[in-house]
Amino acid sequence: MKKIYYFLPLALFLATANITDASAQTNGKGLDMANLDKKANPGKDFFRFATGGWADANPIPDEYSRYGSFDKLRENNQIQIKELITELGKTQHIQGSNGQKIGTLYTLGMDSVKLNKDGAAPIKSQLSKIAAIKTIDDVIRVSGEINRYASSPFFALYVSADDKNSSMNILHLYQDGLGMGTRDYYVEQDAHSRELRDGYMTLMTKQFIHAGYREMDARVAATAVMKIETALAESHYTKEKARIPEENYHKYTFEQLNSLTSNFNWTKFFAANGVSGIKELNVSQPEPIAAAVKLMQTSPIEDIKAYLAWKVINSASSYLSDDFVNTRFDFYGKQMSGSKVIQPRWKRAVSTIDGALGEEVGQMYVKKYFPAKAKERMVGLVKNLQVSLGERINGLEWMSKTTKAKAQDKLNNFIVKIGYPDKWRDTSGLKIENDSYWANIVRASEFEYNYNFSKLGKPVDKSEWHMSPQTVNAYYNPTSNEICFPAGILQPPFFYMEGDDAINYGAIGVVIGHEMTHGFDDQGRKFDKNGNMTDWWTAEDAAKFDKRAQVMVDFFDNIIVIDDLHANGKYTLGENIADHGGLQVAFNALMKTKEGKANKEIDGFTAQQRFFLAYANLWAGNVRDTEIVRLTKVDVHSLGKWRVNAALPHIDSWYKAFNITEKEPLFINKENRVSIW
Ligand SMILES: [Zn+2]
Repeated sequence: MKKIYYFLPLALFLATANITDASAQTNGKGLDMANLDKKANPGKDFFRFATGGWADANPIPDEYSRYGSFDKLRENNQIQIKELITELGKTQHIQGSNGQKIGTLYTLGMDSVKLNKDGAAPIKSQLSKIAAIKTIDDVIRVSGEINRYASSPFFALYVSADDKNSSMNILHLYQDGLGMGTRDYYVEQDAHSRELRDGYMTLMTKQFIHAGYREMDARVAATAVMKIETALAESHYTKEKARIPEENYHKYTFEQLNSLTSNFNWTKFFAANGVSGIKELNVSQPEPIAAAVKLMQTSPIEDIKAYLAWKVINSASSYLSDDFVNTRFDFYGKQMSGSKVIQPRWKRAVSTIDGALGEEVGQMYVKKYFPAKAKERMVGLVKNLQVSLGERINGLEWMSKTTKAKAQDKLNNFIVKIGYPDKWRDTSGLKIENDSYWANIVRASEFEYNYNFSKLGKPVDKSEWHMSPQTVNAYYNPTSNEICFPAGILQPPFFYMEGDDAINYGAIGVVIGHEMTHGFDDQGRKFDKNGNMTDWWTAEDAAKFDKRAQVMVDFFDNIIVIDDLHANGKYTLGENIADHGGLQVAFNALMKTKEGKANKEIDGFTAQQRFFLAYANLWAGNVRDTEIVRLTKVDVHSLGKWRVNAALPHIDSWYKAFNITEKEPLFINKENRVSIW
């Protein structure tokens, strides 16, 4: 919901993360030539040429729907975190210490005997409260409680920066409330979506039965939930529209909010959610929020009770007995993503701890695994990339001096975060106890909720991190004009501590350039150097930008990812522009280094060639067909194969490096290539 742009798709609990073999990591010095398939033609399928060896040597393990080089890195991080936890187990920890919290939560997650003996007992009191609902006031009160520890019923509310006054935090309402995540699965008529709807009905019915409903009642409840979620989905903005910043910003006074709905007691609603004295807020999508309120007011009370119960059961199902866990996996893991078997228990427990106790784990992680030298080298790389982007902006023939000056100003005002935060959050208020796994997840979620809402009406703390240090990812945050590279991504194949410039600029250099370019993609360009949504472009430059971006949209719309399914050029535009800009800026930066200029061969490839090989190796991997379909519907990033085969043919220096001519299938005429940053 927060407008933060990530380099990689976020790790999905059931869809990613796993398999053992930490030793298979690269050595930190250079590219493994065995990753290539030298028999392939780079001008026909560069992805295969650069990563075919890796793909053949790493078939998808059963627990994965996609397995690529960064999944392997994420898995390696899991193993490291497990090692930390094992070490913790060797000593006693005082109550309330990080060691006690991590140890207790891990023990509960691993205790299959207790989990299976407890069954649905840990959610019993929450379901009883829902069962006792009689009036709309009860609905409002209980929904407010659920919102703090489970996925949001009807719509979400959270606190973050005001897009047009980015130094202050305000309340946002955002469309939400769908158990299948995206509206498309509810409204589209293709076979895949229809099958998912059937599967979702089966999932709900089974879980209601596990929670103690009689079979007949479970079916009735599942039907009621489907009815409410479908109505919500029909009202939601499309995913393409939800990407457009100005279409999702509607600053309302409390009076305007009141006139959006009729007879809805917002004061009571906010009080139930722990908020009072709201004078203004951002109603991100007014029509869907109004529709959600109307559903709360007009749906039969028994339907609403089923819907609220489902929010609790579905949110808890990963932390209860095996019947809940496996049924959840059958839908979200198997049917939706194509994974074959569920992850082993220890990996699921590690993921949970990583999510619930991210800061606690992070402190130990960086102490053990993140060398100070890595941060130094990154600081230098970021600086060089910044200079390089500045040069490219200066050299743009299509942009006016006025807009260029503002763009440079924005670039010079980037906040850069590397490794881990200077100060850690105070998490001493979070208690982890021995009662049940789920009870602790509830406490951790409520702790996060209260922390988030404690910021309401206060200035934004721009030093705060929006990712834990052990995360294998990076982000750009437009409202703070900030780029962030956590310790977790500063490892091969992204970052080679002992590696030469060519591969570091091709890998982490492009990641840095990618995040910087997000400040200037179709969304980011609408925010100024202070993170305020203002139009700092001349009308003429904005029109030129849109025209150039449209070339990218059309190119990706034409790509067939599987069967007759096309890539979504509009939805993936921001990420594709960021990849494009990242490649241009990083290559330009490499060419300023001694190594880039000398262009000497190592392992049979020139420095410029190894730049592109290192980039392609970020995306080495295999994906199941089901997951290709799912990602194309829900991920703003293009598939790895196309982040290579559709990105590189728009880069002039790639043609030169590999001597690609117009005879090759990947060749694009120069006048048809994307040219933005
Ligand atoms: Zn990105």
